[in-house]
Amino acid sequence: MRIASLPQPAGTGCESGFRGVVCVSFDSADDTADHDAGGRPRHDLRFTSANPESLSELRSALLRSSVGIRLVLTGSPVDIHAAAAVAAECGLAEEEVTLVSDESGLRVVFCAHCRTRTETVEPIGSEVECQGCATDLEIANHFSRRQAAYLGFAANAEEAA
Ligand SMILES: [Zn+2]
Repeated sequence: MRIASLPQPAGTGCESGFRGVVCVSFDSADDTADHDAGGRPRHDLRFTSANPESLSELRSALLRSSVGIRLVLTGSPVDIHAAAAVAAECGLAEEEVTLVSDESGLRVVFCAHCRTRTETVEPIGSEVECQGCATDLEIANHFSRRQAAYLGFAANAEEAA
């Protein structure tokens, strides 16, 4: 008698107990092929963006894998940081996750004042107007894994005080 196997989420061929390098790339990036897995087994996942569907696929792939995997995330900051937050949820330590950021892509700035998330292509250290409170935010070189966003503080806080 055969019991039908549980349906597997499409696209995650990561066998359970996989120990190796999981390379996840989001559409804008095309350079994961060059990442050196150091001779370890390698599993590729490709997504168009970090939407709820792809993130849940990533989550199930990570949860099926063993302790000791390495995760390489390639793509725009907004995508890889969303994926990094999922990895953190799944118990991966920061040193097990490598972010290969396409710096020309979108990043998310989390307003320290009104907690609105503003997407921008401006680099770290530059200013962006908060979509919530219209404050000029300086994009801090501080990434919050919990918010999956860069923190933004009023750029003119000192002068305005
Ligand atoms: Zn704000």
